[in-house]
Amino acid sequence: MQGIRYTLSPLPYDYSDLEPVISSEIMQLHHDKHHLAYVNGANAALELLEKGRSGDTSVNLKAVMRDLSFHLNGHILHEIFWKNMRKYSENNPIPTELEDIIVKNFGSVEAFKKEFVEAGKAVEGSGWVVMYKDGDNNLLISQVQNHNLLSITGFTPVLVNDVWEHAYYLDYKNDRGTYLEKWWNVVNWDEVLRNIR
Ligand code: MN
Repeated sequence: MQGIRYTLSPLPYDYSDLEPVISSEIMQLHHDKHHLAYVNGANAALELLEKGRSGDTSVNLKAVMRDLSFHLNGHILHEIFWKNMRKYSENNPIPTELEDIIVKNFGSVEAFKKEFVEAGKAVEGSGWVVMYKDGDNNLLISQVQNHNLLSITGFTPVLVNDVWEHAYYLDYKNDRGTYLEKWWNVVNWDEVLRNIR
C-alpha cells in the first residue's frame, strides 16, 4: 500500500519576476533543485516508514523521523515562501487593513520591519525568519533553525523569509541584511493578510 506523497507546486510567477531583489538564476536553483530535494527527501522518508510497517526491520525509525521532520518542514516552508512573494514593485504598499493589524501588534510598521529583519539576520547558520499567528490571531516574529528546529507548535506561519545561503548568496554574497531589507519589495501583502484572517 502506498500512502501519502508530496509534490512540488509550480511557482505562482515567472523566475525573473522578483528581479532585481532575487535573480532568475537563484529562483530556478532554489525552486527546481533545493525545494524539489526536500519534496523527494520527505517522500523517501515516507517510503521507509511504509517499509517498516510492512515488517522491514532494517529501517532506522529514529533516523527516518529526523529526515521526515527536516524535509517535510522544508517543503511546507518553501510552499508558504513562494506564495508570500509576488512580482517586484517599487513601492509595494501594505494594505490599510494589514497595516492596522501590524501597528496593533508591533507598535508601528517600522518596528515590525526592524524586528523581522533583525530576527532574520540573527538566525544562526541556515534557517528562516517567520511571523506566526497564534490561536487568537496575535502576531509574533520568531526564527526556525534549518527547517524544523525552534518552531512553535500550533502557531501558524503567515509570513516567512528563507535565510539559508542558497536563498541569497549568488546575489548578495554574505550580506544577508541587504537581502532582508530589499525583500520587502517582493512581499505579497495581500497573501499575508489572507493568512492572518
Ligand atoms: Mn530554501
